[in-house]
Amino acid sequence: MREDLGLCLLNESEPLDNLCLACGEQYPHTPDEIDTWIACDSCNGWYHWDCINRPSLEALFICLGCQGPI
Ligand SMILES: [Zn+2]
Ligand SMILES: [Zn+2]
Repeated sequence: MREDLGLCLLNESEPLDNLCLACGEQYPHTPDEIDTWIACDSCNGWYHWDCINRPSLEALFICLGCQGPI
Protein backbone atom coordinates (compact mmCIF):
# COMPACT_ATOMS: atom_id res chain seq x y z
CA MET A 1 0.00 0.00 0.00
CA ARG A 2 1.26 3.45 -0.85
CA GLU A 3 1.49 5.83 2.03
CA ASP A 4 0.61 8.89 -0.01
CA LEU A 5 -2.87 7.78 -0.99
CA GLY A 6 -4.70 9.37 1.88
CA LEU A 7 -2.79 8.75 5.02
CA CYS A 8 -1.55 12.31 4.72
CA LEU A 9 -4.99 13.33 5.90
CA LEU A 10 -4.38 11.52 9.13
CA ASN A 11 -2.14 12.58 11.90
CA GLU A 12 0.97 10.59 11.10
CA SER A 13 2.06 10.59 14.69
CA GLU A 14 -1.07 8.66 15.52
CA PRO A 15 -0.24 4.96 15.49
CA LEU A 16 -2.60 2.95 13.33
CA ASP A 17 -2.79 0.14 15.79
CA ASN A 18 -6.46 0.41 16.53
CA LEU A 19 -7.68 -1.94 13.85
CA CYS A 20 -10.39 -4.34 14.80
CA LEU A 21 -8.70 -7.71 15.24
CA ALA A 22 -11.87 -9.49 14.16
CA CYS A 23 -12.41 -7.84 10.79
CA GLY A 24 -9.20 -5.86 10.32
CA GLU A 25 -11.08 -2.65 9.71
CA GLN A 26 -10.65 0.62 11.48
CA TYR A 27 -14.12 1.98 10.87
CA PRO A 28 -17.66 0.78 11.48
CA HIS A 29 -19.08 -1.37 8.71
CA THR A 30 -22.20 0.68 8.19
CA PRO A 31 -22.79 4.39 8.64
CA ASP A 32 -25.44 3.82 11.26
CA GLU A 33 -23.41 1.34 13.21
CA ILE A 34 -22.41 2.58 16.59
CA ASP A 35 -18.66 3.01 16.66
CA THR A 36 -18.19 1.11 19.85
CA TRP A 37 -14.93 -0.62 20.60
CA ILE A 38 -13.90 -3.02 23.29
CA ALA A 39 -10.40 -4.04 24.26
CA CYS A 40 -9.34 -7.52 25.22
CA ASP A 41 -8.30 -7.53 28.84
CA SER A 42 -5.59 -10.03 28.09
CA CYS A 43 -3.85 -8.87 24.92
CA ASN A 44 -5.22 -5.31 24.82
CA GLY A 45 -6.32 -5.86 21.24
CA TRP A 46 -9.21 -3.73 20.09
CA TYR A 47 -12.41 -5.09 18.59
CA HIS A 48 -15.57 -3.64 17.19
CA TRP A 49 -18.18 -4.34 19.76
CA ASP A 50 -20.40 -5.48 16.89
CA CYS A 51 -17.79 -7.88 15.53
CA ILE A 52 -17.77 -9.91 18.70
CA ASN A 53 -21.51 -10.21 19.14
CA ARG A 54 -21.88 -7.31 21.55
CA PRO A 55 -20.76 -8.75 24.87
CA SER A 56 -21.41 -6.90 28.07
CA LEU A 57 -19.31 -3.77 28.25
CA GLU A 58 -19.28 -4.08 32.01
CA ALA A 59 -17.68 -7.50 32.13
CA LEU A 60 -14.12 -8.46 31.33
CA PHE A 61 -13.65 -9.25 27.67
CA ILE A 62 -11.17 -11.90 26.65
CA CYS A 63 -10.91 -12.29 22.90
CA LEU A 64 -11.11 -15.63 21.10
CA GLY A 65 -7.40 -15.56 20.39
CA CYS A 66 -6.64 -15.31 24.08
CA GLN A 67 -9.23 -17.85 25.08
CA GLY A 68 -7.54 -20.31 22.78
CA PRO A 69 -8.72 -23.80 22.00
CA ILE A 70 -10.32 -25.48 24.96
ZN1 LIG B 1 -14.58 -5.28 13.31
ZN1 LIG C 1 -6.95 -11.03 23.51
